[in-house]
Amino acid sequence: MVSRVSEIVSTANCDPESASLTLRYRARWALPIDAPPIENAEIVVRDGRIIEVGHAGNGLVDQDFGEAVIIPGFVNVHAHLEYTVMRGLLEDMPFFPWIRLLTALKSHITPKEWLASALLGAWEMRSSGITTIGDACDGGFSLMALLMTGQSGIIYREVFGISPDEPIQEIVSSLQKKVASMTETVTQAGSDRIRIGISPHAPYTVRGELFEALGSFAKRYSLPQTIHLAESLAEEDLFQKGIGPFAEMFARRGIAWETPQLSPTRFLDACGAITPGTLAVHCVQVSQEDIALLKARGATVAHCPKSNGKLGSGFAPVRAMLNAGLAVGLGTDSVASNNNADMFEEMRSAVFTARARERDPMALTAEEALRLATLGGAEAMGMAQEIGSLTPGKRADFCVVNLSASHITPAEDNPVAALVFSARASDVIATFINGTVNRKSQEIEEAVSIMRMTRRKLRDALSLEQSKLEKMMTGTPRNA
Ligand SMILES: [Zn+2]
Repeated sequence: MVSRVSEIVSTANCDPESASLTLRYRARWALPIDAPPIENAEIVVRDGRIIEVGHAGNGLVDQDFGEAVIIPGFVNVHAHLEYTVMRGLLEDMPFFPWIRLLTALKSHITPKEWLASALLGAWEMRSSGITTIGDACDGGFSLMALLMTGQSGIIYREVFGISPDEPIQEIVSSLQKKVASMTETVTQAGSDRIRIGISPHAPYTVRGELFEALGSFAKRYSLPQTIHLAESLAEEDLFQKGIGPFAEMFARRGIAWETPQLSPTRFLDACGAITPGTLAVHCVQVSQEDIALLKARGATVAHCPKSNGKLGSGFAPVRAMLNAGLAVGLGTDSVASNNNADMFEEMRSAVFTARARERDPMALTAEEALRLATLGGAEAMGMAQEIGSLTPGKRADFCVVNLSASHITPAEDNPVAALVFSARASDVIATFINGTVNRKSQEIEEAVSIMRMTRRKLRDALSLEQSKLEKMMTGTPRNA
């Protein structure tokens, strides 16, 4: 495994010779997103940018993908690459023990293991057409992973602090040091594809005064921020009524809690935490007034339908958000609550949950879902000038999806429906970033074996942590 920035740069730059050539690719379809679908399409790239997208000519091309569709690279607006090692580990449990065990297991993982975990997550995403990621990370390893795979994105450094015992000034100055170090890493790597931001974790893990301080910190240094917001009923109950598992945990830990009697969204706004460009993640428990407030403050939304479904959180009102004019993107969240990073499944889930919620087959169309997964995500992350559509001048970040597999065929007259309702991550046959495709590296193979060992260790640690949690919640140890 590489760990120094100088080593990372050499692995991130794939195919440097081809970067300055003019390259032409052809496929049965191209879906530019900001323009109508093109049949018999050709895309021309040079210097990492899209030069032209249109109907195929008669000249030679560098590659003809045949019965396939070229689309912009997916934008996954909310992930936790570092948690890849937790895939399938915390299953079939309510939200509160799920998040407590996830937090407890973190202490059993070494830096080398965190990097392997983040790298495998980034590679899974790159292989399945995701070229940009909004990642919330606690250890900074996602940044190293993205520098190695070449993907772009915003790495939001997480910050926690619910207990008044932790002085605000210390938390902010520690965060400032971490952000400075990550920014320096990006500069040293010479990357113009990654920004550093902050992620005050959630209203139930960050207290009001800390939100205020972090809001001013983000504003002072023009840092983008993302916040988990209004995800579960447990969170809503804590803020509106002062009851439920979070309130009980605060009582056990001796944390004084004054119930705001506000929705989590209104509470955050009262703390000045919802600033222009704040990416609010989940927003399942939001009223029409909360949605209007998010829009008025210039916030954007990360919609994570699969994660919300898996954790039984509910359906976010995505139709109402789009009607209100909010910029919304799709997020896979971590594979601890998903269990993969497949944007096709995410698009399908967005459509199905919106239609089921509204009891209306027109509540979200396939075309809208594809837009959420690409240009919508770019808008939600403030990156639409650079990515999200096949537009001349934008970065040559795109993927090619095979349309000839038996579970997709026939797809020739409706490639959008084929992508949203039939395709899956394994149908992606190539992912281009800056106009080049990169190959699986030795580091990825090494990361797989590191993760297997880490996983065995975590499986043992899980029994211990479950027993501690049960003791804390009931006073009786598990298996006692
Ligand atoms: Zn999350």
